[in-house]
Amino acid sequence: MNTTENALLKVKDLEVVYRARRETVRAVNGISFSLNRGETLGLVGETGAGKTTTAYSMMRVLPDRTARIIKGSIEFEGKNLLEVPENTMRHAIRGEKIALIFQDPMSALNPIMKVGEQIAEALKFHNKGELTAEQIEAQVDHTLELVGIQKERKFDFPHQLSGGMKQRVVIAIALVCEPVLIIADEPTTALDVTIQAQVLAMIDELREKLGTAMILITHDLGIVAQMCDNVAIMYAGEIIEMGSVEDIYSGKNQHPYTTGLFGSLPDLDKKTDRLHPIDGLMPDPTELPPGCKFHPRCPRVMDICKRVQPDFTFDGTHKVACHLYGGAGKEERS
Ligand code: SF4
Repeated sequence: MNTTENALLKVKDLEVVYRARRETVRAVNGISFSLNRGETLGLVGETGAGKTTTAYSMMRVLPDRTARIIKGSIEFEGKNLLEVPENTMRHAIRGEKIALIFQDPMSALNPIMKVGEQIAEALKFHNKGELTAEQIEAQVDHTLELVGIQKERKFDFPHQLSGGMKQRVVIAIALVCEPVLIIADEPTTALDVTIQAQVLAMIDELREKLGTAMILITHDLGIVAQMCDNVAIMYAGEIIEMGSVEDIYSGKNQHPYTTGLFGSLPDLDKKTDRLHPIDGLMPDPTELPPGCKFHPRCPRVMDICKRVQPDFTFDGTHKVACHLYGGAGKEERS
């Protein structure tokens, strides 16, 4: 995640807006991060924090009519994806080098096509006729077995599979071209709790076996602790804290929003009557507050927070944007 010259992915100052009915929704507001080959980064935050918009920007699959990337760059293997022609994105990057695992397996699969055909389709599209029919068949069988599904099930339609198996098929489609980066957008949210752990363990095992880098989008800090090397916490379209898993979980110089996220988690070692959710709601992205975007909900708010947007303060691999830890910033008028 830390900036290195040869990082696989470098996102710099990315800003994305949606325009609808004369309103501008500021979904992503100048985020920067990088990711090395084989690393896993957890992108964490509440619904509406801008996590999925960030993922869709990297895949260049934002809705054409409403979304605009107004600033920044997304450098992948040394190329700015925002300048790559759509044809190259379609044939050489999306699905081949970068794969996206969606939240809901049912909407990601074609209900009237056998699952084996759906895996083969991804392979044929990207191999441009280089593989024979037998090789494609063998690769489909192998990928299904990798994700723990018997190859005989390739003749099934999605509705004949359980939720967990459907998500395994979605993961098989994502992996079949052996991408170097997987973006997994809440990959287990639609699954039963008992299946979630199995699917996550499988993704992690495959990722390690294939050496794939991953961006894991989630609101679940437990999953992040289990699967990620680094963590970026997002709030109102900004990254407000970032570091290694150890940095974030140590609690040292923690952003009050991150503290709030941890406070909302049940702790099996402590006896508590109730959890402590963060008061208030995420701000309206058409009317973001001045200064620190978290100030209307922050239990430690100071006067400066309402006017001045905090810059990052760095401490080794850890960075945090909060006036509690220094970091001057830009004065904003309310
Ligand atoms: Fe709270 Fe101020 Fe820090 Fe924002 S900058 S998180 S309002 S203390």
